Amino acid sequence: MQFLFCQYLFTFEDTAIQKYTSMKNILFLFLLTSFVFSCNQPNNKIEQDTELSDEQLQALATKIAEEVIITDGHIDVPYRLRHFYNEGEPMPDLSQRTEEGDFDYVRAKEGGLNAPFMSVYIPARYQKTGGAKELADSLINSVIDITNSFPDKYALANTPAEVEKNFETGKISLPMGMENGAPIGDDLDNVNYFHERGIRYITLTHSKDNLICDSSYDTTRTWNGLSEFGKQVVQRMNEVGVMIDVSHISDSTFYQVMELSTAPVIASHSSCRNFTPGFERNMSDDMIKLLGEKGGVIQINFGSSFLDGDVVNLNKANRVKLDSLLKSNNLTRADSSAAAIIEEFTLQNPKHYSTVEKVADHIDHVVHLAGVDHVGIGSDYDGVGDSLPTGLKDVSQYPNLIYELLKRGYSREEIEKICHKNVWRVWNEVANTASM
Ligand SMILES: [Zn+2]
Repeated sequence: MQFLFCQYLFTFEDTAIQKYTSMKNILFLFLLTSFVFSCNQPNNKIEQDTELSDEQLQALATKIAEEVIITDGHIDVPYRLRHFYNEGEPMPDLSQRTEEGDFDYVRAKEGGLNAPFMSVYIPARYQKTGGAKELADSLINSVIDITNSFPDKYALANTPAEVEKNFETGKISLPMGMENGAPIGDDLDNVNYFHERGIRYITLTHSKDNLICDSSYDTTRTWNGLSEFGKQVVQRMNEVGVMIDVSHISDSTFYQVMELSTAPVIASHSSCRNFTPGFERNMSDDMIKLLGEKGGVIQINFGSSFLDGDVVNLNKANRVKLDSLLKSNNLTRADSSAAAIIEEFTLQNPKHYSTVEKVADHIDHVVHLAGVDHVGIGSDYDGVGDSLPTGLKDVSQYPNLIYELLKRGYSREEIEKICHKNVWRVWNEVANTASM
């Protein structure tokens, strides 16, 4: 275009006879100049406004997934592997494509996934039986073992800078987050201990109230938010530089954390309650706004029940229908002769799933409430079983989400924020403001 423009300029002759024509030429030149100028503006949106075909958009999504670092706030690989690890059985080979589970090296590469936070998940029952710290240690060891077994494919990462270094050498980083503060027990120094072991966020509790705070899934409301010890844990996490994860905690715990924490926080795997009315495990509009105002990030959970209340209701209706069918045959689900009826029923009434479009709706919703600097990805792969949405069934499918965002007009820069930059901002800030 610039070449044409120059050629036009040099053939321009301003003779008396051509006066009228030259006026038109000047107008044309002006329009041409404006066009050339607008083409040179560094605005990503212009690129997309020029009507890319569906195939071109898909190719662009795949390219962006390859080029941009994708971090995911929550993948439950360690807990999936714990059985093999504890029993000393051969582990599934995570360097190859595997049949089971949602994650392995080959599929992660296909999806452009570079830094999945490995969830060190401690079920609430360990709060009663003891052994939470031992389980956490063994799950952390299993992550370290993955990196030792396949040093050319996986590496640990304690900072965004380390993820970047691994990315340059083609390795997948395995940063770690601990889901449930139970392994801290009643000893604040365990916050320092787990930080030294590589834990970079702690979800304060899981499905039950613990010594730190109340859970969204528990109706006991033991502390009406944070316990006195929990307040000290929040303070210590700020001091040590461990991100506070507000997923799973009750609303009152959330508001107290927001009041108390001197650093921004993350929700490692939560979605918007707007689409799942009454489901306290997701965040309300009010909470998302406050999280954003304080610089935090909500990483969207992909589980269908986190994404769409209608899907939950449809599946519930199916279960009720099946139960009454079995009852009319004097059977329960456990009876062996019920199997054929269940199979036939499931064929006629297949399970409902949410969609990749719905995940994009959640991202849109957060952007609308808090802005594009406060949303990320927290799939919960390997943690939500057979509940993943169409188009995001495993770690190979992130490009489908990027395609959906491109279709909705998100720029590459905005997609980069969602894929990693937003949560890295919090990760760096929490580390930089630590005092211990
Ligand atoms: Zn969880």
